[in-house]
Amino acid sequence: MGSRSPQEIWEAALGEIEVQISKPNYRTWFEKTAGLSYQDNKFVIGVPNTFIAEYLDKSQRSLIEKTLIGITHQGAKVIFQVDTKCQESLTSQGRREDSVRSPAPSLPKFNAKYTFDSFVVGDSNRLAQAAALGVAQTPGSNYNPLFIYGGPGLGKTHLLHAVGHTAMDRHLKVLYVSAEKFTNEFVTAIREKNTQEFRAKYRSVDMLLIDDIHFISGKEQTEESFFHTFNELHNANHQIVITSDTAPKAMPLIEERLRSRFEWGLIADIQPPDIETRLAILQAKVAQKQLEIAPEVLELIAQRVQKNVRELEGAINRVTAYANLIQSEPTPETAARALDDIAGKAPLANLITPILEAVADSFKLASSDLLGRRRDKETALARQLAMYLIRQECHLSLAAIGQEMGGRDSSTVIHACKKISNDLSTNPYVQRKVRDSQQRLSR
Ligand code: ADP
Ligand code: MG
Repeated sequence: MGSRSPQEIWEAALGEIEVQISKPNYRTWFEKTAGLSYQDNKFVIGVPNTFIAEYLDKSQRSLIEKTLIGITHQGAKVIFQVDTKCQESLTSQGRREDSVRSPAPSLPKFNAKYTFDSFVVGDSNRLAQAAALGVAQTPGSNYNPLFIYGGPGLGKTHLLHAVGHTAMDRHLKVLYVSAEKFTNEFVTAIREKNTQEFRAKYRSVDMLLIDDIHFISGKEQTEESFFHTFNELHNANHQIVITSDTAPKAMPLIEERLRSRFEWGLIADIQPPDIETRLAILQAKVAQKQLEIAPEVLELIAQRVQKNVRELEGAINRVTAYANLIQSEPTPETAARALDDIAGKAPLANLITPILEAVADSFKLASSDLLGRRRDKETALARQLAMYLIRQECHLSLAAIGQEMGGRDSSTVIHACKKISNDLSTNPYVQRKVRDSQQRLSR
């Protein structure tokens, strides 16, 4: 243990902290910190400025100390120290809207990583991605507004920034704002009696990108102000892109006239990614970070973390930090241990029997037919469909699925999953069977 540098220990701690707090919080307070020294039971953390030092000291000390104890197995007094090296990386990177000190209001700084190129497309987000690309390339004409909704960590902000990059490249005047910031600015404008300026700012742009609109729901005056901004931009054919955690019709408190505006254009949802997309995202992130992680480790992460792309990224950090700590390459075993307390633990092996039964019922076969050797077309299809569903629903490796399916090998499972996945977009019979099996499963 003594061989670890303070920076290595701190990186391991950051890996843990990142999955416990929100991304904006993490970015704002932790991203530019460093482990400077660890001596005499004092752990010194370098931070970019006193503001961050004070905040961490007041609000995050216990989380930090607890995390460090978990890693070093001994208590240490944490000291925050302003460090110029942290400042350099802070300014050179260019900060985003959730920065501590807000950047000059003129040009929005989009996150350099959130581009269309780095966005992995799968069935779960295809429509949203295509629509975003469409409005970025021909703003104001196709879908106005474009309303993208989906659960947390599924890439809404990423797409919004990607639209922003593309529009800026085309020299459009783009304004990106979170609904929260919009609200805060509006409240300040009222207090300082310069709503004129506020209005002018928002109504003079070619494109307005507004993130997390659900935030304004129920805030009547802000809704009203947004309503007028919306109308003015829309009348002038200026593009509006909105993200939200729910569909317009499911937003509880929103005013009816605003809701109907949201429904004027195109509404695109983003669903949690399927396993192939999760794997593709992991591969992209690993390449981006220039890490080397074995395919079976990525496979394990993709099986364990299912609902949220942000957590997928957190899982990579956690797995690599843990492997560094114990000074080994990540293996499926160490990865499983690293992920144990954040994601679904035991494989959902107990779902296998119900899935087999559901599929067998749907095809009017017996479960044992699926595990056996019959080769007629229907049985073969049912068997493939069962493998596909088990892969979707259970946290099991390909080899384990093959084992469960009557001792088949993993290439058979891969083939089955690919085939069903392809058939699902082209073959109505397979679509019906998958849906029917899923319905039986949920009864
Ligand atoms: P949301 O705004 O929906 O909560 P974000 O856009 O912040 O989610 O995405 C969370 C993280 O996941 C970001 O780092 C983002 O780059 C990444 N991400 C989400 N979807 C994808 C995707 N399809 N391809 C690549 N990265 C993605
Ligand atoms: Mg977001």
